[in-house]
Amino acid sequence: MEVTIVGAGLVGCLLACFLARRGHQVTLYERRPDPRPAGAERGRSINLAISERGIDALRRLGLDGEVLKAAIPMPGRMMHALDGELTFQPYSADRGQAINSIGRAELNRILLAAAALPGVRVRFEHRLTGLDERTGELRFGSGGTARARVVIGADGAYSAVRSRLRALPGVGFSQEYLDYGYKELTIPPRDGAYAMEPGALHIWPRGRAMMIALPNPDRSFTCTLFWPHEDLAALDTPQRVRARFAAQYPDAFQLMPGLVEDYQANPVGHLVTMRCTPWHVTTGEVTVGLIGDAAHAIVPFYGQGANCGFEDCVELDRCLDETGDDFAAALALFERRKTDTDVIARLALENFVEMRDKVGSRLFLAGKRLEHALERALPGRYASRYELVSFSTTPYSEVERRVARQRRWVAAAGLAAALLAAGLARTARRR
Ligand code: FAD
Repeated sequence: MEVTIVGAGLVGCLLACFLARRGHQVTLYERRPDPRPAGAERGRSINLAISERGIDALRRLGLDGEVLKAAIPMPGRMMHALDGELTFQPYSADRGQAINSIGRAELNRILLAAAALPGVRVRFEHRLTGLDERTGELRFGSGGTARARVVIGADGAYSAVRSRLRALPGVGFSQEYLDYGYKELTIPPRDGAYAMEPGALHIWPRGRAMMIALPNPDRSFTCTLFWPHEDLAALDTPQRVRARFAAQYPDAFQLMPGLVEDYQANPVGHLVTMRCTPWHVTTGEVTVGLIGDAAHAIVPFYGQGANCGFEDCVELDRCLDETGDDFAAALALFERRKTDTDVIARLALENFVEMRDKVGSRLFLAGKRLEHALERALPGRYASRYELVSFSTTPYSEVERRVARQRRWVAAAGLAAALLAAGLARTARRR
């Protein structure tokens, strides 16, 4: 079957690999030039934390080794308090588990190289500008056209394929912007070495705002500020930038010689949750579907957007198995994944409050220690939500059901222990 994928980003490239393995002929249309020679755009390098769901998808294609070689494991969070105190909190009771920092551009480069397979063509500098879902005609900014019976939009949060679907009756869509933006900054190497511990995702929780930093193989860190838009806009002079960082992030401030230049030059990104339903439309012989961020863009606070998009590819591959490679039927079946993507969209929003505010509190850290103690005491029977989301491939909706069951069970066990203790105390008093 000939399949057209719009967008040669992370998910588009991985999907092309899955489809080529099934023997399909794939054409990828990408609006940008080939990113391999040019490198990342300024201030939009974005490191990603890749965890088990993404690794599992890569493993199925034999790509996990190469990706993990280019990544830096982060087994925990390092919290930076205002007074400079550092607290390391492992992500898992099993100290061997880690999420993995990798540059988005590097990951895209690896996946583009992997997609250079017989049966896969990549057309760079082809921005989709129009799509007729009845005839399968695609129109590009360059003036060119193409025709396809199966079109899959992997063209990201601001998908042009989704824009066409949205215009059709029966297709629902919503977008929810946070009042926050993000901006990238850099902590360069110091004397040729990492300026901070590289084996951690660093967080500066500051109540309603935060900064994080992820390590890069060149011994730098990419920092990302997640601040209310008005706070980002308020720092409009070098003095204000320096003063805010000296007051709020004093330890990092010492490590950022290019702070003012980065702050002034790097763009502000938006944080959005997009929901669309259904994700596919079949008209006669033509089927148009969505995958990855195009179908369900989420905010980045659970580190799951790309992981979830990679898992989409596994699920679509499974749907093709179940339907004998009938794309219209497979994309209809793939709609079942929405139950899971809705859950991770919600968890990602909730995790923002945890990261920017709660992770700094002693109560939060004590709760995490208790969770890890339960995980060690009850292996296979108790697992935290973070563990299940980041270090398993348990469907997101099942994660929620299991966490709710565990909470009821822990509450009941706590109540039973309290009643037992009260009973023992009464007996002791009578004696
Ligand atoms: P994209 O990566 O956006 O790729 C879409 C591709 O389509 C691009 O190549 C684009 O050029 C192309 N395209 C767009 N429009 C057109 C068009 N009209 N015609 C042709 N081509 C087009 N995820 C994680 O898993 N872990 C993390 O730690 C993490 N951190 C993040 C931090 C930040 C600050 C942000 C913003 C996101 C983060 N994410 C993370 C999310 C992750 O980046 C996305 O989920 C992931 O990139 C989605 O992949 P995609 O291929 O669906 O879309």
